[in-house]
Amino acid sequence: QRLVGAEGDYDDQQLEASLRPGTLHDFVGQKRVRAQLSLVLEASKLRGRTADHVLLSGPPGLGKTTLAMIIAQELDVPLRISSGPAIQHAGDLAAILSSLTHGEVLFLDEIHRMSRPAEEMLYMAMEDFRVDIVVGKGAGATSIPLDLPPFTLVGATTRAGLLPGPLRDRFGFTGHLEFYSVEELELVLRRSAGLLDLTMTSEAFTEVASRSRGTPRIANRLLRRVRDWALVHGVERIDARAAGSALDMYEVDARGLDRLDRNVLSALVNKFNGGPVGLSTLAIAVGEETETVETVAEPFLVREGLLGRTPRGRIAMAAAWEHLGLDVPEHAAF
Ligand code: ADP
Repeated sequence: QRLVGAEGDYDDQQLEASLRPGTLHDFVGQKRVRAQLSLVLEASKLRGRTADHVLLSGPPGLGKTTLAMIIAQELDVPLRISSGPAIQHAGDLAAILSSLTHGEVLFLDEIHRMSRPAEEMLYMAMEDFRVDIVVGKGAGATSIPLDLPPFTLVGATTRAGLLPGPLRDRFGFTGHLEFYSVEELELVLRRSAGLLDLTMTSEAFTEVASRSRGTPRIANRLLRRVRDWALVHGVERIDARAAGSALDMYEVDARGLDRLDRNVLSALVNKFNGGPVGLSTLAIAVGEETETVETVAEPFLVREGLLGRTPRGRIAMAAAWEHLGLDVPEHAAF
């Protein structure tokens, strides 16, 4: 698993459980989404009704699950967690829905990956708090209507555009999570360091934050590596140099690029003169699967303005040469 990958693994889940903020107040950044959500929750409390369904969209590791937990916490109701890929049959969804208690929050991660029949069942459940359960097959099949307790659905998706319109329309509120600024990540890290009992200088927080790719999950994971490093080296007060050395050792550079990212950039610049070059050729040059380069390295490199996608292939941007400590050639393709 990549240190700077945004997906979580088992270790992350352990760490994340202990570092997750429990209230909207402790949730760093995402000011707009936070204010809007707070209004939705407040209004539901005042009306004494279940809150509107909420859709959260944004890249992995930005806090969607955390927000779902906070919503349940603030509404003082239980939380049920499942995910699109776990719901393959409409029956799977019916089982979950029919066992919800009044007002419960149902969090469905990766909701865009639910099967079609389940999705259609969800439409009705969201709108009318009712499902039709089909019993039997063929001509003898009958559908039995089943009333559900009112509940609040919190759906999460990496891209709202992946959801079919009818599903998207049934959410009363959609919040789009953005990547975090370095300052915001510093706040996340300060809070985590406090919980982990680490002593760090302000500069050390900045150092870790600027390598975290705008993503709290990555920030917390890098912090854990810094903690290990400090423990082994007997460092009690972590300064920027210590944090930097720790992360250098894990090959996460000052801008948050790891070895794969740098290999891609360096191949592009050194072997292909900055491109344009086709994605599969580039992947072969770095000895990786095309898909890995496309989904793992490329989005971040594009976002950082280091790599460009053109109809004729991938190109290195001026910043790529600069990042590799090279002079930008005059013939470059950008
Ligand atoms: P997602 O569901 O979007 O993949 P998570 O909610 O699982 O992301 O968040 C990943 C980790 O990052 C969690 O451990 C959480 O503690 C931390 N985190 C995410 N957003 C914030 C935030 N705004 N403030 C503090 N910690 C955060």
